[in-house]
Amino acid sequence: MREILGIDEQGLADAFVELVRLVSSRLPDDVVAALKKYRDLEEPGSRAQRTMDTLLVNAAKAEDGSRPICQDTGTVTFDIYYPFGLRESAMKAAIEKAIVVATGHHYLRPNVVDTLTGDSLEDNLGKGHPSLKFHQTDGGEFKVVAVLKGGGCENVGAQYTLPNTPLKAGRDLNGVKKVVLDAVVKASGKGCAPGALGIGIGGDRATSYLKSKEMLHRDLADTTPNPDLAELEDWVVEKANSLGIGPMGFGGRTTLFGAKAGVVDRIPASYYVAVTYMCWAYRRRSMTIKKGEVTYA
Ligand code: SF4
Repeated sequence: MREILGIDEQGLADAFVELVRLVSSRLPDDVVAALKKYRDLEEPGSRAQRTMDTLLVNAAKAEDGSRPICQDTGTVTFDIYYPFGLRESAMKAAIEKAIVVATGHHYLRPNVVDTLTGDSLEDNLGKGHPSLKFHQTDGGEFKVVAVLKGGGCENVGAQYTLPNTPLKAGRDLNGVKKVVLDAVVKASGKGCAPGALGIGIGGDRATSYLKSKEMLHRDLADTTPNPDLAELEDWVVEKANSLGIGPMGFGGRTTLFGAKAGVVDRIPASYYVAVTYMCWAYRRRSMTIKKGEVTYA
């Protein structure tokens, strides 16, 4: 570890604790900017605007006190991009040590339970939790993307197969638009709107969902180089916001503040569309380590 990253395993665990503190208590700048932008578009003095104000105050207080932005600190997910020479078992050990410490500091609520018994696991370590995805890379950089994925918004995610006869959705981007909008209408504010969508098109049941979750790693202000997907992303936000669902479903102009779409190639027999919904508490942070220097974004 020290030869490659410039820090030892305890240093790596400490760096992960800080990453968890940041992801739990500080919304990313792009999310705060989006919430402010859409707050200003709401009717002055309306319930929708007051709700957006409350969300922003909540986020600021969490940041000031290093407290969780939401009581549901969610499924803890890490995507770890690492150079050749690091052992996954050593990285996993450092992460698990950090999760226990972060739970003790109340950056995370004791949130994980035994699926079959419902008993709390107290330290947030369980089978498949935290959710770790390791990606070996050719470069020398070590980068981790951390997301805390709340349960309420996860519950309103959806997956469709095209064609979808009831929705008159065929196997093209118009069909994709119809099913994505159906997911927004079905959520109707549940999962703590406003939020952002990750959309995974193609692949199989698993990979379409993985692509949709990967899309939530993108900066809200970025633009996909594929013009058709860019048009789709803009259309989804604009159309969703014309439905009047609004913050928390109270009515208003802001149901979504972002949508990001990506594609996985497929086999001819299948055409999947997966929609992952991320609530306003869009907790995403990254950490990079190079030659012993740890930076967070
Ligand atoms: S959906 Fe998001 S904001 Fe709502 S309770 Fe869950 S984590 Fe919190």
